[in-house]
Amino acid sequence: MIIGSHVSFEKGEFLGAVEEALGYGANTFMFYTGAPSNSYRKELNLASLSDAKKLMQENNINLENIICHAPYIINLANNDSNKYDFSINFLKKEIKRCEELGVKYIVLHPGSFVHLTKEEGIENIINALNLVISRDDKCMILLETMAGKGSELGRNIEEIKSIIDGVELKDKIGVCVDTCHINDAGYDVSKFDEYLNEFDLKIGIDKIKCLHINDSKNLVGTHKDRHENIGLGTIGFDTLLSVLYNAKLKDVPKILETPYIGNTDDDKKRLYPPYKFEIEMIRKKEFNPNLLEDIRSFYK
Ligand code: FE
Ligand code: FE
Ligand code: ZN
Repeated sequence: MIIGSHVSFEKGEFLGAVEEALGYGANTFMFYTGAPSNSYRKELNLASLSDAKKLMQENNINLENIICHAPYIINLANNDSNKYDFSINFLKKEIKRCEELGVKYIVLHPGSFVHLTKEEGIENIINALNLVISRDDKCMILLETMAGKGSELGRNIEEIKSIIDGVELKDKIGVCVDTCHINDAGYDVSKFDEYLNEFDLKIGIDKIKCLHINDSKNLVGTHKDRHENIGLGTIGFDTLLSVLYNAKLKDVPKILETPYIGNTDDDKKRLYPPYKFEIEMIRKKEFNPNLLEDIRSFYK
């Protein structure tokens, strides 16, 4: 299984990201090239990059499975022309950064249709993607399935399909399915095979290039988008396992974006990453009822 989590790129760039992933027992990871909420980006450190690639090779981490996530400030559905142009240019730059790193996939939230109709929003996204994507791009954009919070687009298979249908260079566009988001959008993840069949019929299952594996704090169809730790939410451990071990998605990288754990008796209010312990449960196919306690005592 190709499994990892979201890791930080800020502390030590690519090398720090690889080290963090290895600490979780992961064989892939996802990163933002800078803060997800702003556009400040440092020059890439190329020496650190070659060390990172060596470390990946030694640990059998395939660069092809590494995922980048575009920042949330990009909104390709925006009707403000300044923000729209900014989003297009910034996404182009992020793709260039991915190419410098050798990263093949960049996950993108399709966009939100503030002050517009849904159809106009989708139109904007399609036009923007056709401006962003060029024939010699080595990096593929993965549209993320969204929870449908506010005016978020991409909240069902049809909306993702409409966007992909409008993109001219279809081999440069794919999909990242997020289990928390599809639950919150109204799909029952315990019937994941039905979801996959519908997806396959309308879009084609081969377009799924990444899975975000998260439990959800909320019930099906609540449009909230609040992630929960594996096995502690409304989707549940067994259902998430059936997604993770689905034979049709065997080679698709799986990325955890579950919340960090707070320590109740820590006055510094530190938060601990759950990923090492969640990956362990997933590999063993066995839920750990002491998950939170184990995480707290490990990082103490
Ligand atoms: Fe996302
Ligand atoms: Fe996600
Ligand atoms: Zn989310």
